[in-house]
Amino acid sequence: MAEVVLTGLGKAYGDGTRAVTDLNLEIRDGEFLVLVGPSGCGKTTALRMIAGLEQITEGTIRIGEQVVNDVPSRDRDVAMVFQSYALYPHLNVYDNIAFGLTLRKLPKNEIDHRVREVAEVLELSEHLDRKPRNLSGGQRQRVAMGRAIVRAPQAFLMDEPLSNLDAKLRVQMRAQIARIQREIGVTTVYVTHDQTEAMTLGDRVAVMRRGVLQQVGPPQELYDRPVNLFVAGFIGSPGMNLVSARLDENDGRFWVSLNSDALLLPESVLRQRPALRQYVGRDVVVGIRPEDMEDTELADAREGQILHSVADLVEAMGSDVLVHFPVDVPPVVTDDTRELAQDAGTDDLPKAGGKGTVLVGRFSPRTRI
Ligand code: ATP
Repeated sequence: MAEVVLTGLGKAYGDGTRAVTDLNLEIRDGEFLVLVGPSGCGKTTALRMIAGLEQITEGTIRIGEQVVNDVPSRDRDVAMVFQSYALYPHLNVYDNIAFGLTLRKLPKNEIDHRVREVAEVLELSEHLDRKPRNLSGGQRQRVAMGRAIVRAPQAFLMDEPLSNLDAKLRVQMRAQIARIQREIGVTTVYVTHDQTEAMTLGDRVAVMRRGVLQQVGPPQELYDRPVNLFVAGFIGSPGMNLVSARLDENDGRFWVSLNSDALLLPESVLRQRPALRQYVGRDVVVGIRPEDMEDTELADAREGQILHSVADLVEAMGSDVLVHFPVDVPPVVTDDTRELAQDAGTDDLPKAGGKGTVLVGRFSPRTRI
């Protein structure tokens, strides 16, 4: 096991595409770090550079005590798990898991011991004789994991290892990967475009956009204190509501106007962002997490906490109800939000100019709507 340290890491492809720019990251010994960002943000390139599968243009990569820039992939002592699993179709599960050890000519009894131990951890013991084509997607995925674990590498590098699985299996395997990583404590770098996966798996999450690291921190920190609009919009599902509004000060309190309602900024926001005072009288972007909207009897609501709107769509999700509210305020349409909408596979961006902006609220199923 080892720490993995990236310093000023950069990659420009031959055709001039700049995939990664000045990436600085210290992945601690035993840490589970998730690299997340929309398609094309450079996360796979970063991972492949750590693996030694891609030439570095700038910077250094250190694994443990060794700078590995010029060390060939096979000598880096890292194990990679790909989205495609890359299993050998003609070998059974046992031989697929054993493959790396056989190549290294380890004694047969040691190979046998290690393969069976790993198969036990991954609940594959009953399937050791099967060929990959006779396994389910989840089982194949576990064989790919087994092949990585059995080598006891200094680091695991995983590139979207769950993306070929159906939604239910993905959640199961996600929990399993988290459990296994904790059990064996191997430094892990995990690439995904799925922010839920990032939030649930990572000790820390590094958010990338267009080759540039935006923020790195524990999941809750990214959620509570995003450093910019991009991270604010990317982390959280459904995403944070982002609208433009004017910031006013009155009686030493800070207000923003949405529709014809004036909303009072909570003290906590001001504590976190003292610099906000400079923006009084100017346009700001207001972010409201869907779950921070509450159903309330009008009589109970206090001044500055009511937003009038009539729900125009209600989506029951079982544990939650998503409610869409049209509001008459300018949405935030920037390159950031465009990119986020693109990644979500939607051109459903609120139209500039007010009407048609929709806020999403997340309520309990017992809410009266
Ligand atoms: P995805 O989630 O879609 O895999 P990603 O965040 O992993 O995306 P990369 O695959 O690292 O992104 O790609 C980063 C950028 O580099 C993209 O603009 C991509 O088109 C470009 N790129 C990737 N591989 C090459 C290559 N071999 N030659 C030229 N450009 C490339």
